[in-house]
Amino acid sequence: MGQQLEVINPIVHRVVEEARENPDAFWSREARALHWFRYWDKVFEWNYPERYRWFIGGETNLSYNALDRHVQSGWGGHTALIYANERGERRLFTYAQLHRKVERLAAALRGMGVQKGDRITIYMPVSPEAIALMLAAVRVGAIHVVVFAGFGARALADRVAASGSRLLFTSDITYRKGQNVPLKGIVDQALNIAGDTVEHVVVLQRESAPVPMTPGRDLTWDEFVARAEGQSGHMVPLEANEPAFIMATSGTTARPKLTVHTHGGYAVWINSTGNWLFKLRPTDVWWATSDIGWIVGHSYIVYAPLMAGCASIAYEGAIDYPGPETFWQLIEEFGVTGIFTAPTAVRLLMRYGTEPARQFDLSSLQRIVCAGEPLNPPAWEWLQKEVLRDRVPVIDHWWQTETGGPVIGNPYGLSMVPIKPGSATIPMPGVEVQVVTPDGKPCGPNEKGILVIKNPFPGLTSTLWGEHERYLNDYWGRIPGQRLYFTGDAAHVDEDGYVWFAGRADEVVNVAGHRIGTIEVETALLTHPAVAEAGVTGRPDEVKGEVLSAFVVLRPGHEPSDQLRQELVQAVRRELGPVAVIGEITFVNMLPKTRSGKIMRRVLKAVILDKDPGDITTIEEEGSVEEARAAWEQLKAERSEQQ
Ligand code: AMP
Repeated sequence: MGQQLEVINPIVHRVVEEARENPDAFWSREARALHWFRYWDKVFEWNYPERYRWFIGGETNLSYNALDRHVQSGWGGHTALIYANERGERRLFTYAQLHRKVERLAAALRGMGVQKGDRITIYMPVSPEAIALMLAAVRVGAIHVVVFAGFGARALADRVAASGSRLLFTSDITYRKGQNVPLKGIVDQALNIAGDTVEHVVVLQRESAPVPMTPGRDLTWDEFVARAEGQSGHMVPLEANEPAFIMATSGTTARPKLTVHTHGGYAVWINSTGNWLFKLRPTDVWWATSDIGWIVGHSYIVYAPLMAGCASIAYEGAIDYPGPETFWQLIEEFGVTGIFTAPTAVRLLMRYGTEPARQFDLSSLQRIVCAGEPLNPPAWEWLQKEVLRDRVPVIDHWWQTETGGPVIGNPYGLSMVPIKPGSATIPMPGVEVQVVTPDGKPCGPNEKGILVIKNPFPGLTSTLWGEHERYLNDYWGRIPGQRLYFTGDAAHVDEDGYVWFAGRADEVVNVAGHRIGTIEVETALLTHPAVAEAGVTGRPDEVKGEVLSAFVVLRPGHEPSDQLRQELVQAVRRELGPVAVIGEITFVNMLPKTRSGKIMRRVLKAVILDKDPGDITTIEEEGSVEEARAAWEQLKAERSEQQ
């Protein structure tokens, strides 16, 4: 019999109960932690199929809560932003300095004729200018659409066109592992594809080499800032449900969807979860190793740490460049107290071993939180035990672009519950989850099914930009006869109420009637010391229905061999039992991943079925598809020779 939360942690239990018993009172209290120019008339309303709304009639502004509030309360002299890049450049901004910069850019946006509700696309690297521009846009009621600066022309064009952006901001180049990656040329290509919604392109020039400018359309950054003359940078109070920004999902499974996050509900959600889960405090030096092109960058480089009054690090570059020690060195250099990173980053650091970490003083660190994919227990073990020697917790937590902030995690900030490696832990207060079968029957403890969320919560997108029907169908219309939010993830809940993710629901592999999550198999493969990364998919099989097909990247010093294949098959058997039948293991040098580091298993599936991989505009390395194809073909050839 499992233990109830009441026993596991009475403090967390009390907060969860408050949220359940009287959600309106609960969310009112949470919302009052922020500044409102006018309080709401009603906390929540949903006239299905319309959008649901939170804090209706309330007036606030995300930018005000992130900046002005602190300047007014005397915190203006405190560091707000620490910009660092791989070239050793460092720039610090206090809250007062950032506030002034943002006001000026807000005035410049007004000078460009930007009005409330206009969309502006920001296709720039992590930089103080891009961050200030985000804050300036929401300040004047415009809606920002940040597009990751590593995307190509097609992905950019899609997002510009779908959002109907009037202005596009870019820079001449971005820095990537010692290279200058040109951006402006990609913008020109994208605008040829996207049509003519964009009136002006503003270019931040970082290098001296000039870039081609289209007269009448393109402006330099200085020309843009000069438009501030005679304009005011004042902030406009906005109704809580006004959109602050549009953010596309990462495209692991399908064509990206444009989620919409608001000034009210989103702000309350990331502020509350920033407190419950991450324990963000004004004394924190907080580093989210993400990029502003992702929701993690929006919520945890920019908005939540600034709302909490922290010093937030914005790092432009790779965490292992110029060397494998870079990540650890930055922790020491800035006295980082909290880190938000992704499993792909942990696995990358793990490949270099503990040696680089040992060279630095990591004593400032208080916690590391990790999301984006499951933090496989071998990776967790390495970071928590080997590197950090159990001194601080390493906390996995689950969320989606759609949810704005964490939904399932360990409430470290409220009061930590025991960590179970491999589990994302428990739902945040105000969220009720359930695991169901595809036809909506509730699953029992430890029974695998699809994770659904029973109720909207303030951070959850209430529509997709321009595609409300798709929103209702894809999220609230998937479970027959019930209005439940469909996460798309396979999971089970254990007897203590902990949630364990097994992979995307449509990627679960059915081997002779046993449903096996891709992640479970990948984790089992990672228990072998030769394995750096693994991506698993199902392959149709006449006898078993499906068998598991694994793509494996080896750690340095290990070579592919049949002997190793056998050992890996055994490792999976040992972890998951004889039901987990591995059809084959293909060794590759890299896995197809999204630019945000998520394994694209649908691409692996396309490779083994010899099909078109579909939309791969968000892929990190296009070469990874060809590499996987070549390795797969070679394996097939070797096998047919042996037969
Ligand atoms: P995105 O489209 O980038 O918002 O990706 C959201 C998806 O990432 C989720 O639906 C999960 O499949 C996956 N994900 C994120 N965090 C975790 C986690 N901690 N454990 C398992 N899966 C995760």
